[in-house]
Amino acid sequence: MYANGQSDPVHNHGSVTHTSCDHGHAHQCLDITGPSIPTASGSHVHHSEGWVMYYHGHAHYYKAVSGPSIGMNNKYHVHEWDFYTTHDDGHRHHVNGPDMPAPGV
Ligand SMILES: [Zn+2]
Ligand SMILES: [Zn+2]
Repeated sequence: MYANGQSDPVHNHGSVTHTSCDHGHAHQCLDITGPSIPTASGSHVHHSEGWVMYYHGHAHYYKAVSGPSIGMNNKYHVHEWDFYTTHDDGHRHHVNGPDMPAPGV
């Protein structure tokens, strides 16, 4: 935490979630984002890319940008994610929801 109350500029977030269920299956998605990137509005976002867990004979890749920082009342913040994986094996999956809280706003 910095004296001005801003987030540590190099923080990142983790998340443990599942993709949407399509074609009768869902993939586990274990993600660690990149460092925070300031936005013009004074907030920040994170980029992330990687693979969902191999399952049902295939995996999917994703590359996404988070929503802006959402402050929590305990001086932590999260980001909302909403993206689609790549098309593989005739389908893709939707991923959405918040990531894990990080210190700062
Ligand atoms: Zn953040
Ligand atoms: Zn799949």
